[in-house]
Amino acid sequence: MSDIPTTPADKQTGGTSSKQRAPDTDRGRRAFRKDLLEWFDDQQRDLPWRGVDDPYAVWVSEVMLQQTRVDTVIDYFERWMKTFPTVESLAEAPVEEVLELWSGLGYYRRARYLHRAAAMVVDDFGGRLPESASELEELPGIGPYTAGAIASIAFGRQAPLVDGNVMRVLARIFTIEGKPRRSPAKQHIWARAEELVDPKRPGDFNQALMELGSQVCSSTSPRCLICPVQQWCQAQATGRPEQFPAPRERPEQRPMRARCCVIYRDEGPSRQLLLRRRQTGGLLGGLWEFPSCEKEGKSWPDVDSLAQTLADRSDGVIDISADDIGRALGTVTHVFSHRRLKVRVHTINFDTGRGGFGDLTGWQWVDAEALGDVASSALLQKVEGVFDDHR
Ligand code: SF4
Repeated sequence: MSDIPTTPADKQTGGTSSKQRAPDTDRGRRAFRKDLLEWFDDQQRDLPWRGVDDPYAVWVSEVMLQQTRVDTVIDYFERWMKTFPTVESLAEAPVEEVLELWSGLGYYRRARYLHRAAAMVVDDFGGRLPESASELEELPGIGPYTAGAIASIAFGRQAPLVDGNVMRVLARIFTIEGKPRRSPAKQHIWARAEELVDPKRPGDFNQALMELGSQVCSSTSPRCLICPVQQWCQAQATGRPEQFPAPRERPEQRPMRARCCVIYRDEGPSRQLLLRRRQTGGLLGGLWEFPSCEKEGKSWPDVDSLAQTLADRSDGVIDISADDIGRALGTVTHVFSHRRLKVRVHTINFDTGRGGFGDLTGWQWVDAEALGDVASSALLQKVEGVFDDHR
């Protein structure tokens, strides 16, 4: 690893300071693992995927946990494992059902990849996930992190992993400078993770590092006084541990504006809402939404455009004028990784609308009470909230 840069401590002392040693010798690594694992055995949170060695369950939990908080994932994970308890049951399910169960978790590509990869596991690996990180990485949606997690937690392989928490902890332990998501800092962090991972308990060790990052070594307020590896931490010795790693570059969020229309009708005691499925492939592809039109930039599409879009996308079945649509009830904001979308919410009572509905492919009336059961993004719930406030 000669191309790996040195840390400030390396530069000053030839590897470690005399008082604060980094775990960069065999002996140091053994002691570091022991300190961390003892803490983990005592302090780890009780989570439904902990202690599970079913590779499929480990895989599902790790994919759900990407970009999503643990508290949110717990219910989704439990529902998922009841509905699709095996990789075969997931592979056989229609993608629509898979997306419905994922509804609200966001980053829907994860669910599509899980579904596609499940079919490959069944067809190409006889229903058993491969054990090595390199084979796992050949499946759709499994990158180095998820491969390391499955290999170490489910199969006991001595494979490293680096997620945001591990990145932060290791950048601090070894005072690694530079942008941690870019080489050479990224390469440095992965190399340290690989050296450190415990040969006897690799899965527990990796989870312990993530738990430490989540529960103790937070990005802005690390709790060094109660940290089990404080004695190994170079950044803590500097007195400014939060300076490591270098701050993350936020992706630019391009502005986008949209208008949507909540079209409703009352059927006896129940209220029904008209949803349209977005085309697959694009933003929120394949998910159900209140029909909308959108535009890149900060200028709003006009109400005529919304009426025209409704007519075009329904092959003329929804024949509603801008006058029928009327003024907006309110505006909601939804942030994607690369876009900041503002949506003006309009509504129309279908009973007073013009025209009628035949069998519209890609459209459905949904009972308002069952809105949470369709495959949709959190944006749909926000829009429905505005509509709800005005009825
Ligand atoms: Fe993080 Fe502080 Fe522990 Fe270092 S000592 S790993 S900065 S909590």
